[in-house]
Amino acid sequence: MYRSGEGELTVLKNVSFSLEAGGACAIVGPSGSGKTTLLGLCAGLDVPSSGSVRLNGADLSRLNEDDRAKVRAENVGFVFQSFQLLSTLTALENVMVPLELRGMNSKGIREAAVSLLGKVGLGERLQHYPAQLSGGEQQRVALARAFLNSPKILFADEPTGNLDNETSERIVDLLFELNNSSGTALVLVTHNLELARKAGRIIQLKGGLLVEDVEVEPALP
Ligand code: ADP
Ligand code: MG
Repeated sequence: MYRSGEGELTVLKNVSFSLEAGGACAIVGPSGSGKTTLLGLCAGLDVPSSGSVRLNGADLSRLNEDDRAKVRAENVGFVFQSFQLLSTLTALENVMVPLELRGMNSKGIREAAVSLLGKVGLGERLQHYPAQLSGGEQQRVALARAFLNSPKILFADEPTGNLDNETSERIVDLLFELNNSSGTALVLVTHNLELARKAGRIIQLKGGLLVEDVEVEPALP
């Protein structure tokens, strides 16, 4: 429920699902159906006005802001539409910052960050600041940052929404590589049906209700 000048707005109603460690699912639904809100709750960025959210054993809805931040830092990666890059840091520094905050700062981390930025197609943009990057480029920096952290679970809100086909394929490959090789669970909001099928499970929201939760076969190439 959101409170604003216009009063209270209940966005999600009775939505319930769980995802096993290392699993993947796609969340689809029309604009305004509550996808971003749901992702924010699952990632512990917001707390629900009722109901609960469990992540790796912790009930996020019962934790205070500091404890939620700790659970997020240890478990969660997110790539949201508002890219949340730090404007005073370069692309490379933005990718490295979560690990530096956790006290890791080595040549190895820098090399891994450079390599990941190369993989998302930004090898020539290491020293650019967010304001000097396009929306799609900023989103790819956020992806590289999430990848470097190898989180237990990664939430991505329309991760290919701003990208051309070729770059989009590269990002999708990286997402599923992370899922397969690091065991990072994936929760993807997407309008791209092919990407949704790749996740193997599609959860559909409509008007704040979960109207479908099905396992699907990936589309044939
Ligand atoms: P989606 O991502 O599926 O397009 P959202 O989760 O962003 O949908 O939004 C769902 C509904 O909640 C929309 O009607 C939107 O106007 C409303 N909403 C989203 N964020 C807020 C907020 N911070 N305050 C008030 N209403 C909000
Ligand atoms: Mg949204």
